[in-house]
Amino acid sequence: MATLEVKDLHVEIEEEKDQTREILKGVNLTMNTGEIHAIMGPNGTGKSTLSQTIMGNSAYHVTQGDILLNGESILDMPVDERARKGLFLAMQYPAEIQGVTNAEFLRAAINSRRPEDDQISVMAFLKELDKNLELLDMSEEMTERYLNEGFSGGEKKRNEILQLLMIKPSFALLDEIDSGLDIDALQVVSKGVNSMRGDNFGSLIITHYQRLLNYIVPDVVHVMMGGKIVKSGDAELAKKLESEGYAGLRDELGLDV
Ligand code: ADP
Ligand code: MG
Ligand code: MG
Repeated sequence: MATLEVKDLHVEIEEEKDQTREILKGVNLTMNTGEIHAIMGPNGTGKSTLSQTIMGNSAYHVTQGDILLNGESILDMPVDERARKGLFLAMQYPAEIQGVTNAEFLRAAINSRRPEDDQISVMAFLKELDKNLELLDMSEEMTERYLNEGFSGGEKKRNEILQLLMIKPSFALLDEIDSGLDIDALQVVSKGVNSMRGDNFGSLIITHYQRLLNYIVPDVVHVMMGGKIVKSGDAELAKKLESEGYAGLRDELGLDV
């Protein structure tokens, strides 16, 4: 079992030169593989900041607290090292990469996480790729195209889930994977994430809307407001939020954020 712990995390961003603003104000979160957690919360509350900080985006400055993977602080590790340790952030590779096909990229990403003397064979790679393309209802042609070049929004999302299925991280941070998806694409993306469920996989699903959580049912739901997690519960909490809105919870908790 792997564990990802966020402890009293405070994060600042630089808005203009010499002008910083604290976005995360003491976030605490512990997740284990085998679990799917969801974070919901109003726009601008710091959800993406949390995922970017966990992944190591240098625009986000940790001023207090820690992030531990299996008890080891990852704060000093660059993004690629965090990835090799088993973290995955959807939208990690949104850029188009000229001259590298999607399949080449995937094989390199898998191999960068494996020891030199245990690289995946072409045969094993293609077998796994075929299986996952079928699961995601994607054509083989997608893998021969240059990474993200000319991909539609929906194709990019599917491709991110293909990356997830191929790379098999311990923890996946999925930030708004549902935004801009039609219902068919949403079902395919959800099927992909659900197929990863198991003792060796955990996911933190960030979403603005409850809809996605009808397809990927979380074990734990956290609500973030004003840069903190203000309430945690089970899947019912997401349904309650959908009907009562964030304002209802604000009143219930007596928050002024
Ligand atoms: P959420 O994902 O919950 O909508 P974000 O984490 O994206 O919230 O943003 C939280 C706040 O931090 C917002 O006010 C946003 O404008 C600001 N912010 C986030 N990232 C940056 C950045 N790289 N540069 C400047 N401001 C940022
Ligand atoms: Mg936002
Ligand atoms: Mg966001």
